[in-house]
Amino acid sequence: MRETGLDALRRSAADCTACDLYRRATQTVFGEGLVHAALMLVGEQPGNDEDLAGRPFVGPAGRLLDRALAEVGLDRRQVYVTNAVKHFKWRAAGAGKRRIHDKPNQDELEACKPWFQQELDLVEPKIVVCLGSTAARAVLGRPVTISAVRGRLLAAPAGPPAVVTFHPSAALRAPTDEGRAAVLEQIVDDLRRAWTLALEEGDATAPSAATALPASGPGTGPTRTPRAAASRGARRFRTGPTSG
Ligand code: SF4
Repeated sequence: MRETGLDALRRSAADCTACDLYRRATQTVFGEGLVHAALMLVGEQPGNDEDLAGRPFVGPAGRLLDRALAEVGLDRRQVYVTNAVKHFKWRAAGAGKRRIHDKPNQDELEACKPWFQQELDLVEPKIVVCLGSTAARAVLGRPVTISAVRGRLLAAPAGPPAVVTFHPSAALRAPTDEGRAAVLEQIVDDLRRAWTLALEEGDATAPSAATALPASGPGTGPTRTPRAAASRGARRFRTGPTSG
């Protein structure tokens, strides 16, 4: 099978040492999905299950995301799923020293951003869905309050417009069944809106091959590419205010 630009990028990212997160993680967890998906879903970072499997959104939050996508009539094969940070940041907790999620800091987000940007440039999604506040910060370049901006179309500085919603783990953390259902319902609503907007932008279901991308050197960091997609962002959509 012919290697795509995303395959080459994935191979390069496997050797990334641009920040310290690679030291304690099992492997780089790169994005996956439809090469030219109309929707790109971006989370914060891989979790424990993803770190071990080497694939994004395969743990409990991923299963909830699949449920939300199914509610919209979508599955993983129709979208591209990735994270703003590609290595699992964790700390040990409890007597069993379970590895639990630790939020990436701004330096780590910045270090990993070129990988995300290159994914964005290759996939060329119509809409980016930010799952959670860290993803929103990485995509929008500023902090937002999810409850204040969720579901709105927001201009992103270096790519297509974005829709912000909760990370599926927010539903998992809700203390009651009602709370979990309410968060999931909001995620479904926001995904449905994002998909509708993406469909309005053209034939969102037609896959095609990616352009080959020169691989960056092993053992280094992400290659900083020109902002090829920067102007695509604000193009055909009327976006909402970017403050929130
Ligand atoms: S920049 Fe990203 S891929 Fe590179 S080591 Fe840091 S978290 Fe991993």
